Amino acid sequence: MLYPSSALQSLPGSRIRVLFQPGGLSQLGSIAKAEGATRALLVTDPGIVEAGHVERAMRSLYNAGIVTRLYDGVGENPTTDHVARGLAIAAKFQIDFIIGLGGGSSMDCAKGVNFLLTNGGKMQDYWGVNKASKPMLPFIAIPTTAGTGSEAQSAALITDPETHNKMACLDVKTSARVAILDTDLTATQPRKVAAATGIDAISHAVETSASTNRNDASRAFSRQAWQLLSGSFVRSLDHPEDATARQDMLLGAHLAGCAIENSMLGAAHACANPLTATFGIVHGHAVGLMLPHVVRFNSNNSHFPYADLEPDGETLARKIESILTAAHLPRRFADCTADPAAIPDLAHAAATQWTATFNPRKLGVPEIAQIYTMAAH
Ligand SMILES: [Zn+2]
Repeated sequence: MLYPSSALQSLPGSRIRVLFQPGGLSQLGSIAKAEGATRALLVTDPGIVEAGHVERAMRSLYNAGIVTRLYDGVGENPTTDHVARGLAIAAKFQIDFIIGLGGGSSMDCAKGVNFLLTNGGKMQDYWGVNKASKPMLPFIAIPTTAGTGSEAQSAALITDPETHNKMACLDVKTSARVAILDTDLTATQPRKVAAATGIDAISHAVETSASTNRNDASRAFSRQAWQLLSGSFVRSLDHPEDATARQDMLLGAHLAGCAIENSMLGAAHACANPLTATFGIVHGHAVGLMLPHVVRFNSNNSHFPYADLEPDGETLARKIESILTAAHLPRRFADCTADPAAIPDLAHAAATQWTATFNPRKLGVPEIAQIYTMAAH
């Protein structure tokens, strides 16, 4: 477990060093310099510029003598087009360092730029595991939401705008050298954003705890993440001024990201992606909606894969449902724009998702349709 500190810390089971400190963004320049940066690209989105975080980051880099170019054109669910625009700036400016500042989208887009700048080709070439052959530029990740845990992961999720495929490009070389967890950055986010990203982090803790790929390190990460996130999520929404609750959320999301890196996810993520692709439902809403039903589907009297978190499936499912209700998040198809008539198509799409292969109970199209039907009504 990490505690707030002005020094870089390491976690057993994670290769990423962490600065966990309120106001830690002001140390970005000195940390980047120590990692060898002279010419950096800062990848972010317009909302982060508006919040004033980019100005603070740029000032810290300037004070450390690092010349920085800004790419602030990232959008939600970043596409190959977003990556291409960042790549053009990075190539022209001949950078030797990359920084991702923002939600999962900014961090993933920064990783995408790093893939193409150092290894050439197009994002589609890296869809899968360890497809890059050359080393990549050093990278610092700074999350401004407590959500994806992308700063802890070596995966870039980049969407192909033509096929709408969310391509998971995994490569250990994309891992951040350092993640800066600064709770000042999550103080100003709108409640809706905090709710959608926080439930995603909770889903990561739950799904990684039961994955067929879990190991001792991931189980410890999942358990700690669940305790922090389930204990502080609702309070962090209702009392955004509560720095301790925000601290629990930011650390919990990071630990859940560390768990994914060791364990992978499960059926709630497999079912969520087609809901996002078909109906445009926000990732956190889609995954939260599916989660209690996946927990019930995976649990029975003789088999309860979530035992690291709660004593039985019904207790866990009800806890998640009460969290969804308190956070005003969708619990049924009718609460968002999902249409039950699409269940056959959704089930076929979900069955091809990579994350479905790590679900603790075997999944085929009929089983997935059954879970969607539970969530629809
Ligand atoms: Zn997720």
